[in-house]
Amino acid sequence: MSILSIRGVSRSFAETVALQATDLEVGENDFVTILGPSGCGKSTLLRIVAGLDRPSEGQILLDGKAVTGPGADRGMVFQSYTLFPWLNVLDNVAFGLRERGIPRRAQIEVAEEFLAKVGLLKFARHYPKQLSGGMQQRTALARALANNPRMLLMDEPFGALDHQTRELMQELLLGIWEREKKTVLFVTHDIDEAIFMGSRVVVMTARPGRIKSDLPSPFPHPRH
Ligand code: ADP
Ligand code: ADP
Repeated sequence: MSILSIRGVSRSFAETVALQATDLEVGENDFVTILGPSGCGKSTLLRIVAGLDRPSEGQILLDGKAVTGPGADRGMVFQSYTLFPWLNVLDNVAFGLRERGIPRRAQIEVAEEFLAKVGLLKFARHYPKQLSGGMQQRTALARALANNPRMLLMDEPFGALDHQTRELMQELLLGIWEREKKTVLFVTHDIDEAIFMGSRVVVMTARPGRIKSDLPSPFPHPRH
């Protein structure tokens, strides 16, 4: 039973066809990695699923309902962290909760719960620029999780991190995925990362991007 259906989705920008006739079915608790060369439309696909962009053709269904914009059911994590520099770590994580009108006391409780899960409770009152790259990305992950999304949409989330931090983040994410029963769409251009992180690896062709293969990972992480 799929929770996400991507049906005949294409996206063009003026003369550029970024994504062509893409179909993908994603089931509950799947961990799908999307692998492809730079510029093949991976970010475009993820942004369309997030509701941050619209397809030129085709549609996205979440639980059978058409996606028309962003929603708390999908949490997005970008390579560049995209934290709000004027908010401390706690308020970055609480941002979506505040937007939804959750009372302040509950915002703090939930934000602290997720900061503890990513090991950053002690840094709740720090500002993003006081943190290392790995810590900023853990904050972004806590922010995405705090809205209790069913899906995590991750766009090269560990691409800017050094090797050692990247491995720690991969373990952290797989633990969260397993415990919290999230469905993950994870974009990367790193073959090793795609095979290790995903239970299923979707390979895209160079521009215009379309799906070339969609297979179980040959060497998945033991948590799969
Ligand atoms: P990837 O994430 O695989 O590197 P993208 O989805 O970012 O690829 O981009 C796919 C193609 O679409 C690229 O050629 C890119 O230049 C183009 N593109 C993406 N977004 C826009 C935009 N907002 N305006 C014009 N062209 C874009
Ligand atoms: P980077 O992306 O810069 O490698 P890390 O997440 O590995 O970032 O953190 C770098 C340093 O920040 C660590 O060596 C440690 O000193 C400090 N640090 C990170 N997380 C914590 C934590 N939960 N508690 C205390 N110190 C931490």
